[in-house]
Amino acid sequence: MTDTYLTYDELHTLLAGVLQAGGYNAAHAAAIAHTMSKAERDQCRSHGIYRLAGVLKSRHAGLADGNNAPVIHDPADKPITKIDACGEFAPLASEQGLPLLAAKARRYGIAALAINNCLHLAALWPEVEALANQGLGALAMCPSNAYVAPAGGIRKLFGTNPLAFAWPTGDSRPYVFDFATSVIARGEIELYRLDNKPLPDGWGIDRDGQPSNDAAAVLDGGALLPFGGYKGSAIATMIELLAAVWIGDLLSSESSEADGGRGLAPRHGELIIAIDPTAFGAADHEIHTRVLLDAIRDQGARLPSQRRYAARAAAATQGIPISADNLAKLRRMEKGELDIELH
Ligand code: NDP
Repeated sequence: MTDTYLTYDELHTLLAGVLQAGGYNAAHAAAIAHTMSKAERDQCRSHGIYRLAGVLKSRHAGLADGNNAPVIHDPADKPITKIDACGEFAPLASEQGLPLLAAKARRYGIAALAINNCLHLAALWPEVEALANQGLGALAMCPSNAYVAPAGGIRKLFGTNPLAFAWPTGDSRPYVFDFATSVIARGEIELYRLDNKPLPDGWGIDRDGQPSNDAAAVLDGGALLPFGGYKGSAIATMIELLAAVWIGDLLSSESSEADGGRGLAPRHGELIIAIDPTAFGAADHEIHTRVLLDAIRDQGARLPSQRRYAARAAAATQGIPISADNLAKLRRMEKGELDIELH
């Protein structure tokens, strides 16, 4: 069906309306709707309206309350801030925590924000990009549910553990990457199963720990593999150590255990670190950064987020494309008809 084009504000208002119809208060609905609207605007569809069903289901199942305000612990004499999301989705805690984190990074040179006890289905780039747009470097990471086996291992242990990094460039397009540490997103394996297609080599193992090209065997009792073999495995381990052990929250395996097979949103923590690029006295960091990024582009290589920024520029002129079918469904959901699948 033909796409309809919405402005960012139109899409955000619509999604916030659906979330409020699903029981989220205005503050949570607005914050979650911003993360989804940004993903739709930048053509990162895996984290756009596709995630509404999971967010609504989590509230319906009583996992999220939808009304709990984040509880902030922000000691003035330490470069750390802790926010208890009180079991809610992360965006509202993140929205409230990022300004505190940025202020501390400027004061101390480096600072960390732990969001504890949150539900997480979002992409991480909006957070690190927002910090880089304020002139700060940033790293964000979180566990998820256990879907990935360690390299050389035989069963799932890690989450798909995303890692995002951003660095200011002096213009409105900071250097940003954001990806899962699994060889491929879990949703992709699901698509191979639906299409009855064999998986490429090296994506997963079956329940006996044997390499498998069978999507169903990988999803049902088997495991995905980390990207880059032992290197991705080590990065996934680091994320479990920093964004679970260090901040006092759940490992991916513990999040899965708490879910008990219900398939709801993972519940764990998230770590965001912000860095003042001038902390070591580098006065020319923007020029130096541009030398590096220009050298990458001059070879014909593309920078991460280049595709995303191009999609955003297109959305600014022509609007954000939504299929007429999905738009009609969203309008019905806004009126309280919530049990609808979007695609
Ligand atoms: P991809 O493998 O698609 O990689 C995405 C990153 O790599 C983007 O920064 C992208 O830039 C960049 N990139 C892609 N192709 C190239 C290329 N040819 N040259 C240079 N850079 C490139 O992402 P994933 O599927 O691993 O992850 C997608 C999203 O899922 C992430 O946003 C992540 O945060 C999220 N996620 C969230 C989880 C959670 O529990 N909350 C769990 C796992 C993932 P561009 O955008 O411009 O294409």
